[in-house]
Amino acid sequence: MERFWNEVEAAPREGIEEVQWSRFQEALRWAFERVPFYRDKLLQEGVRPERISSLEDLPELPFTTKSDLRYQYPLGLCAIDQGEVLLFQATSGSTGRPVIVPYSREDLEVWAECMARALWAAGVRPEDICQNAYSYGLFTGGLGYHYGAQRIGCAVIPASSGFTERQVVLLRDLGATVLFCTPSYALTIAEYAEKFGVDLRKLPLRIGHFGAEPWSVEMRDEIEERMGIEAYEMYGMTEMMGPGVAFSCRYRQLHINEDYFYPEVIDPVTEKVLPEGEEGELVLTSLGRRGMPLLRYRTGDLTALERGQCRCGRTLVRMKRILGRTDDMLIVGGVNVFPSQVEGVLLGFTELEPHYRIRIFKKGYMDAMAVEVEVKGEIYAAEARRTELERQVAEKLRQVVGVEVPVSLVAPGSLPRSEGKAKRVVDERRG
Ligand code: AMP
Ligand code: ZN
Repeated sequence: MERFWNEVEAAPREGIEEVQWSRFQEALRWAFERVPFYRDKLLQEGVRPERISSLEDLPELPFTTKSDLRYQYPLGLCAIDQGEVLLFQATSGSTGRPVIVPYSREDLEVWAECMARALWAAGVRPEDICQNAYSYGLFTGGLGYHYGAQRIGCAVIPASSGFTERQVVLLRDLGATVLFCTPSYALTIAEYAEKFGVDLRKLPLRIGHFGAEPWSVEMRDEIEERMGIEAYEMYGMTEMMGPGVAFSCRYRQLHINEDYFYPEVIDPVTEKVLPEGEEGELVLTSLGRRGMPLLRYRTGDLTALERGQCRCGRTLVRMKRILGRTDDMLIVGGVNVFPSQVEGVLLGFTELEPHYRIRIFKKGYMDAMAVEVEVKGEIYAAEARRTELERQVAEKLRQVVGVEVPVSLVAPGSLPRSEGKAKRVVDERRG
């Protein structure tokens, strides 16, 4: 039985580490020789590549940060000649200058390989029809999934995101067996289907592959239930390549493609590497990447690593599902709160719809938070029940999250719907 797309996924640790070490040496040389930014940075810090004698010495290298990447806009980190670039992708740049990512032919091969491993692990096979509702364009979700599904040999419907009614019609008429999109867009699609009387659970659709934003386990269960599918997860970011850095197996463990991405977890404040199992910021070093090699890139994502073979047989290191980002964390009344914790609480109430918004605002000198969440129509109409439920939800949030959060139950359908990455936190502190 072909259990893995590539045998390396279940290789003995020594084998994986050997590959990592040899690719790392090449990556370091590649960055040092071809990217002036890295040459200067390494020389400045007094790092001599020849002194790094194993991956244990990695902490001697400086970090690369998102602001380094922005500062090098557009192509300061490009390590290949213009003629060798086959594709550009970019971050949205919604919070600053975008980061442009160049890919060589080899990089595109690696991307397709990593994506194929992920989709294969979810049970995607050549006979599947994949509807790709990630946005095509500079955003890596569209092409990344496209390449991966084509590598396996699937038929792809490049629906891109948006035109939700058409998504439902395509799902129904072409009988896609696999859907790719963000979890929040999956919900939007499910809602449309219900409104138009299309029962997704009766269609051939059987697998959903979701990523690009944090989502709670409760959200995953909700999507599985409403679509009648098994939901799998992808993790990645544009700066490192796009989706395909890590993927879930059928035991719902996120495996990192660590023969291409060397992971470390650091304390975001002290910047020290943390021991296995401790939660901190994920730092990734690209192995074997040509277009834009990155050394110790601080992802901003919070997780912990777990080694040891998974029940699925893979030896690739596992990472915990992303709890949030260092810059997503809300500090309310001195307590750290992640939006995903709030989501988990809300989705635990069957009377509530999975559509919510978190408002952050100033109350005196302190930051305060309030939650608006849609409630089922019959409860919205009954004021006394609504008030009682608001009280119950606020009480549960207080127990789980540890802060007082006023809750307003709003009419079904009244909050904005997502077609890509959901914007659930509204920050009213400035402007
Ligand atoms: P982008 O470069 O636009 O694809 O955004 C990458 C970021 O999206 C990551 O750094 C994470 O913060 C977030 N992200 C991607 N996949 C996941 C996931 N499976 N769970 C939680 N957050 C994710
Ligand atoms: Zn596994």
